[in-house]
Amino acid sequence: MSVTLPDAKSRLRCAHCGNLTRFDIVRSSRVREFWHLDMAGEPSVDETEILSETIESITCRWCGSPDRIEIVARPEFGGPTQEAAGDGGP
Ligand SMILES: [Zn+2]
Repeated sequence: MSVTLPDAKSRLRCAHCGNLTRFDIVRSSRVREFWHLDMAGEPSVDETEILSETIESITCRWCGSPDRIEIVARPEFGGPTQEAAGDGGP
């Protein structure tokens, strides 16, 4: 499957157990960070810009399914409003 993240109108859903809310996302990102160091030398990241990002995998937290994750509409666009009673549970 091609792994993509949902946009503002869509969301993830596990087609196996119906989970809508809990997923493990593995992604690798190339980022530019603005490191702001204090005089003691401790850095804090003031700004992060994502230069590129690759989604490697999406896994359901309930049932562990790595290959049944689908993208569905959000509720206001006709998508599911409840998580199905699956075999997992939170
Ligand atoms: Zn699942």
